[in-house]
Amino acid sequence: MSQLPACPKCESPYAYEDGAMLVCPECGHEWSANEPVEVGKVYRDANGNELQDGDTVTVIKDLKVKGSSLVVKVGTKVKNIRLTDEGDHDIDCKIDGIGPMKLKTEFVKKA
Ligand SMILES: [Zn+2]
Repeated sequence: MSQLPACPKCESPYAYEDGAMLVCPECGHEWSANEPVEVGKVYRDANGNELQDGDTVTVIKDLKVKGSSLVVKVGTKVKNIRLTDEGDHDIDCKIDGIGPMKLKTEFVKKA
């Protein structure tokens, strides 16, 4: 059993668990036992593996490059990806022979 934290409001050590909440019997304060830690969005590839900035990924389907006749072929390796929160594409990258481009995490897998 891990020791429950003291009440953040009155520092009473008698807080008890009530479901997902902690309750202080002394001041009545309620708070969440596992306050979600502020972390960035988790990016996952087509296989559900977590992706990180700087990863190398492989494209898993032919992707047309918007506004051009270029196609990023299946199996293209993309080095040094940058994860981004902008728009519906979440990977910023540069592809040899094509240049800067945006990809979706669902169309890549970690190499
Ligand atoms: Zn309290």
